[in-house]
Amino acid sequence: MLSDKYTTLDELKKAVIDMCIKKHWGGETGTQNPQHVAMAMTVEMSELLENFQWLDAHEVDALVQGADPERRARIAEEFADVMMYGLQLMRTLDIDVSREIEKKIGIVLDRPASRKGRETHT
Ligand SMILES: [Mg+2]
Repeated sequence: MLSDKYTTLDELKKAVIDMCIKKHWGGETGTQNPQHVAMAMTVEMSELLENFQWLDAHEVDALVQGADPERRARIAEEFADVMMYGLQLMRTLDIDVSREIEKKIGIVLDRPASRKGRETHT
């Protein structure tokens, strides 16, 4: 069983590509059109968001504290869908996401703080 504690991104990329090959998605290399993958990623993101639709702040807080395990399981599954497409994009477009995240963290930390002292935009 895979676990975030022990599994590398390269291993996850390989697992997703192996699945694509087994499903005959993207030919012998399991490489699907990255434009299609990016669009599919937004669909999966919408499926993820659907699990938060119309929740009030109290319900979201309860969810964060562990309430509603069925909803949490659906969120986890949709998040996995989003990540699986992301892993495909990483592989197809040769994106080193660790390097990109490090760069982005540097950009965000170099930005001046907003007037409220908190910034939410990336
Ligand atoms: Mg889905």
